Amino acid sequence: MTKKKARNSNVTAKVTGNAAIAEAHVQAAAVSEQEARQAVETLLRWAGEDPVREGLRDTPKRVVRAYRDWFSGYLSDPADYLRRTFEEVEGYDEMIVLRDIEFESHCEHHMAPIIGRAHVGYLPTNKVVGISKLARVVDGYARRFQVQEKLTAQIARCINDVLKPRGVGVVVNAIHQCMTTRGVHKRGVSMITSKMLGDFREDARTRNEFLRFIDIRNG
Ligand SMILES: [Zn+2]
Repeated sequence: MTKKKARNSNVTAKVTGNAAIAEAHVQAAAVSEQEARQAVETLLRWAGEDPVREGLRDTPKRVVRAYRDWFSGYLSDPADYLRRTFEEVEGYDEMIVLRDIEFESHCEHHMAPIIGRAHVGYLPTNKVVGISKLARVVDGYARRFQVQEKLTAQIARCINDVLKPRGVGVVVNAIHQCMTTRGVHKRGVSMITSKMLGDFREDARTRNEFLRFIDIRNG
């Protein structure tokens, strides 16, 4: 590893304060951008293309840049988004629900897009979090290689561990392009997963209230 890369890794470690993420970044940095571009070029050639023809000349560069965006979740610890909370909420202790959080992810089996929506609810104890932060948590986990079940559980556990609410509910509804554009080619099929913790799991009334709030029948 060059000196420059090592320095960049240290910076990341300090910013996130999370050893596991810094480690992941070090591993990511071990592959140079040039190597990543070459890998794209190899795939183009393997598919039967001529990577040096005009239309494709800058494609490896663009793909690598797109990957940085799609997989930026590896550079963040979603728990950090939830650390700033508000306690002056006049004793509000009812359910808080954020529905229809659109996300893009990629399945770890085919590296194909997973496009969907997440619905997140929790029962606060004495602190609440800015609602945009819940969407950031969804993105932080979605922008990685995923399976939907794991994505759903990670979002729920993160909120549960950091906010320590009375309960958390997460429902994810998504279309997997590895199923709609290849393989069985079933368009319009979406997959729904849910993770309920605390009161959402143990109390049917709480769970039903959440499911009524998110009402995902229309999309
Ligand atoms: Zn897949």
